[in-house]
Amino acid sequence: MSAFDFDLLTIGAGSGGVRASRMAARYGARVAVCEAGRVGGTCVLRGCVPKKLLVYGAHFADAFADAVGYGWTLGQPAFDWPTLIANKNRELDRLEGIYGRILRESGVEIVKGHARLLDRQTVEVAGRRITARHVLIATGGRPHLPDIPGIEYAISSDEALDLAALPRRVAIVGGGYIAVEFAGIFSGLGAEVTLIIRGASVLRGFDADLRSALTEEMERRGIKLMCDSVVRGIQRTGRGLSLHLAMGDEIEADAALFATGRVPNTENLGLAEAGVATGDNGAIEVDAYSRTSADTVYAVGDVTDRMNLTPVALAEGAAVARTLFDNAPTAVDHSLIPTAVFCTPPIGTVGLTEDQARLRHAAVDVYVERFGPLLHTLGGREEKTLIKLVVDADTDRVLGCHMIGMDAPEIVQGLAVALKCGATKSQFDATIGIHPTAAEEFVTLRDKLPSR
Ligand code: FAD
Ligand code: NDP
Repeated sequence: MSAFDFDLLTIGAGSGGVRASRMAARYGARVAVCEAGRVGGTCVLRGCVPKKLLVYGAHFADAFADAVGYGWTLGQPAFDWPTLIANKNRELDRLEGIYGRILRESGVEIVKGHARLLDRQTVEVAGRRITARHVLIATGGRPHLPDIPGIEYAISSDEALDLAALPRRVAIVGGGYIAVEFAGIFSGLGAEVTLIIRGASVLRGFDADLRSALTEEMERRGIKLMCDSVVRGIQRTGRGLSLHLAMGDEIEADAALFATGRVPNTENLGLAEAGVATGDNGAIEVDAYSRTSADTVYAVGDVTDRMNLTPVALAEGAAVARTLFDNAPTAVDHSLIPTAVFCTPPIGTVGLTEDQARLRHAAVDVYVERFGPLLHTLGGREEKTLIKLVVDADTDRVLGCHMIGMDAPEIVQGLAVALKCGATKSQFDATIGIHPTAAEEFVTLRDKLPSR
């Protein structure tokens, strides 16, 4: 008879928590998972999935416009936001049900309620004290909005996914993943969008050519970009909302979406009582095996603020299950993680940007191609695709692949495998393309840019 109620108690049934719990149970551990909200977490209920469904919804506008050049005659397409939201919510309910069922069928007990550590092996949830040999914290994060006058009138991505009606004018504050993705969604669905960015451009940290290409494409679509702009306050007026900018401008909107980053969910968790250390931004500090400063407590996913992406949380959760219950200590390799931004057109990227490569390598070759996709020849759209390879000139190794254009996320996933295998530019060149595709351009790049 074990001295503990469970071998593993997971706090948070999101991407990382569900994966770790299921796998631990499969390895024979007795597992419970506590969830304060709905089973599924951010990705399934407030993130990747609902966001991408709305992205798909918005892309129909382009499909209808492109179809005319291909001989289709369409009536005036009409869009109904409540239908899209209701259908999206039905799908989320279905997924929540699946996640709950998978956990139960794996033998994982689901305990509903906000969990709090009392010490490094005891958790209190819904008035119940549960002991466990190991505790896994997978509590994710939540939107962070700046503390400015009138911020109560603003919404975050959580509410943007569930608005009762499509706003006619949307002001989006921020220039990161969520800001540019929602700019594409709202503008595709017909809203007037203004993007207010405190920096000089969108997507800080991404390759400079992607950033300028996205800026151009968004402007072509009528999205108004205001860079080097900071919102000082928001007021409700008779005509909607008025956003006051530091330089004196005022932006009128029907909705103000703040996509100004996220913070880890570490408050009221009993971290101090358990001896779990956090960093400056509240994220839990962990070693390569996701172990915290308390040796029985592990943490994975957004709450550790390493790379806040679902596949990363899944990999970290799986690694903890293997480490603890499969006798196979496993550290997640956080290098060369590909990522996509589902803006319009979308971005896929893996590896070093050109600027990062130039800082780390003595000699760097850069190959860039910008072209109009075949679809747009008859469709008549101006939109361009950009692809780029960054290569270590000394070793010929490809350091980074970057793409903005239709299907970029799908294409770059495969290239990430090549980079993980250490592919060289010559190996890219020796690969036969698939014609006619945009992806083939990655293996036909021959002219390096003159050094810049
Ligand atoms: P979460 O999935 O957030 O799960 C944490 C769970 O813990 C939640 O269910 C919460 O209710 C619960 N919880 C919190 N505190 C407690 C407590 N004290 N007791 C009990 N339960 C608690 N990533 C991608 O890879 N691709 C995308 O396209 C993408 N799109 C995104 C779009 C948006 C709008 C957002 C916000 C995020 C997106 N992400 C995307 C990021 C992705 O959603 C997260 O990286 C991922 O969900 C993190 O998983 P997690 O397990 O760390 O936490
Ligand atoms: P990001 O960190 O990507 O972007 C935050 C943006 O808000 C930046 O432009 C930042 O500016 C700006 N900002 C921060 N604070 C302020 C402020 N006080 N006033 C004005 N602007 C501010 O965060 P997101 O919220 O967009 O997304 C959170 C995370 O979720 C992402 O980093 C990503 O890990 C994940 N995600 C992944 C997606 C995907 O995989 N497709 C999609 C959506 C989210 P600055 O650059 O100057 O700091």
